[in-house]
Formats: sequence, C-alpha cells, structure tokens
Amino acid sequence: MKERARRPAIARTAQDPDAPPAERPGKGGLALALGVLLAVPAASLGLAAERAALVTTPHFAFYDDFATNLNDALIAAGVERNFDRPELFHSGAEESCFGELPPSARAGWNRAVDYYAEIISPAGFDDRQQLLPRLQLAGLGESVQDDGARRFVEIARGFRAAAAPAYEACRWRAQDEENRLWIEALQSQLAAHEETIARRLEELYGTPWDGLPIPVDVVETVSWRGANSVILYPAGGHILISSSYEGQAALEIVFHEASHLLMDRGDPVQRALAEAASALGMPRPDDLWHVVLFYTTGETVRRVLEEAGDPEYTPMIYSIFERSSWVRYRDALEGTWPAYLKGERTLPEAAAELMAAVGEGAGHEER
Ligand SMILES: [Zn+2]
Repeated sequence: MKERARRPAIARTAQDPDAPPAERPGKGGLALALGVLLAVPAASLGLAAERAALVTTPHFAFYDDFATNLNDALIAAGVERNFDRPELFHSGAEESCFGELPPSARAGWNRAVDYYAEIISPAGFDDRQQLLPRLQLAGLGESVQDDGARRFVEIARGFRAAAAPAYEACRWRAQDEENRLWIEALQSQLAAHEETIARRLEELYGTPWDGLPIPVDVVETVSWRGANSVILYPAGGHILISSSYEGQAALEIVFHEASHLLMDRGDPVQRALAEAASALGMPRPDDLWHVVLFYTTGETVRRVLEEAGDPEYTPMIYSIFERSSWVRYRDALEGTWPAYLKGERTLPEAAAELMAAVGEGAGHEER
C-alpha cells in the first residue's frame, strides 16, 4: 500500500443502501487442514494468502481476502447471536460440517463469536472497534498508531486465529467461489462501461479521482446495508461490498461507494448545496447530500447503460424512494437535478434550484 493512509476518516455517509439479505450458498466441504495455534497471526498460519488484488482496473482493486471475509462472518455471527437469531454454523447448510469438527475448532469459533458479539459486532462500522481491524486487514495498518489501538487489533486478530479453522473448513470455499464469480461478473461490466461512467462522475462531482485504484473488499454481508466506504486522507479510501449485489446493481454500488470519495466535506457538490441553503437562509437538510449522491451516480450508470443499448436498469434510489422518508426529496430532485446531469445548468444553478424546491416541498409538507 502506498503511504497515503495517514489519518483515516469516515465518509459522512455511512453504510449504504439497500442490499437484500445476503444469500448463503451451500456448504463447503473442505477438510480441516490446520490445527489450533492461538494468537499466531493468520498470515503466518498460511490462512491468508499474501494480500494481492484478484482483479485491478483503472479505478478499482478487487480483493477476495480470507481474513477480511472471516472478520465479516464473525461480525455477522455476533450480530445474530446478540439478537438470538440463527447464526452461521448453528443453523443452515454449514451446521453438519461444523458439528464434525474437532472440539478445539468449534470452541475456537464459538468463543470468537462471543468476543465479537460483545465487543465488535454492536459497534458501527465507523467506530474504532470495527474500523481498526478493517484497516489493518486492508493493509492500511499504518493508520493504527497508538498502543491501545495496536493492542486491540492484536486481540481481534487472536480471536480470528481461533475462529479460522472452522471458517476455513466449513464456509470459506463457498464464499471464496461466490466472491470470485462476483468480481468476474463485475469485471466484464467495467470493461464495457468503467471509463465512461468514471469520466462523467468526475465531471458531475467537479473533482478528479485520486488515490486510484481504490481497494474494494468483497465479503458476504458487510452489514444489513451491504456496503460502506471509508475515506482516507490525503487521498483514497477503502470500500467493502457484499457479494449479494447482483447484475447491474453491482456496477452501481461500486461507483456509488467510490462517489463518496468525490463528495467529501468541502468537495464541490457539498459546497454548492451548503451555499445554496445558506443563500436561502435555510438549514441544509442533513441527508439531502446523500440523496443527491444516490441520484447522480445511479442515474449516470443508468444513462450510460441506456446509451450502450441496455435501457432496463433501475437505479437503487427508486426502490429507496418507494419505502423511505427520502421520498420528500423526490419531486425536488427529479424537477431540478436532471438538467444538471444533462449539462443544462451549472452546479451552483442546479444546487440553488434544488434547494429552493426542497424548501417549498418542506413548507408544503408542514401544512
Ligand atoms: Zn452512500
């Protein structure tokens, strides 16, 4: 990794959208190949291959990483355990494989889930408990600077080492296969559309890509939202995406997350929205910027696909409108922002029109 990750910070967004619950493919049947060596880093156990991107494109480096997937599975299992819901290895297709493992492997997994359930799973993805292990696993460990953080990362790594034999024996092969197929399918879409979409987003967000290629780790779950991004300074970021995004939604979600890197605090679209609100003497609606991001990137993907002869794609924002409070922005956005996407307005003009329309809508709603 380059020396660009000095100080991690979180995208103002948070986790993203709209993912359907991840489907769990059939169980893997790998024989247990490793004994239990607690607290030895997974890499030195040969559990994680040297971290290398599976596929690199001009804008993205896609990873199918054992340790990052194990971390994701433990977070998800900890969440389920906390809610007393069916969890990995205690229900479903992998249960019988798990039941046949040596007691040490089962205990290693179960105690690791206990730890995750208590310490890591309840945290937000932008809290230290989740952020520090994630960055370390992504090779951005230079961000982990203080002793307490280093110690915490080591504890989490120790629990993952304890959980690794079970995950490797009963789950990894199926998830590895799913991740590879997902990346392969997206790779062919990117080969056709990446340059066009990326160039338009750069124009629309008014700021150049930096810190390329952006690392993207593909895992089973991420969280109930299915994707999130971390912005790193001075440039770049790290993206997590669930392999449950299918077809062209995968193309949108990878560009959606990447767009967060073009729409940080102080970036042109954020500034334009803030200035438009201030000119109208109204507070800036908290989440409007994220709706604008969804719409801008989703519509760009849709339009590029349509121009390439595929008019069928419906961006994620429309299903969100159908079931969320963001619907209050819908008319304002659809009445003003397309003109900006078509180049018929400057960014300040479009932001002013959007904010005025949002202000009217809000007044109307209150009546
Ligand atoms: Zn987002």
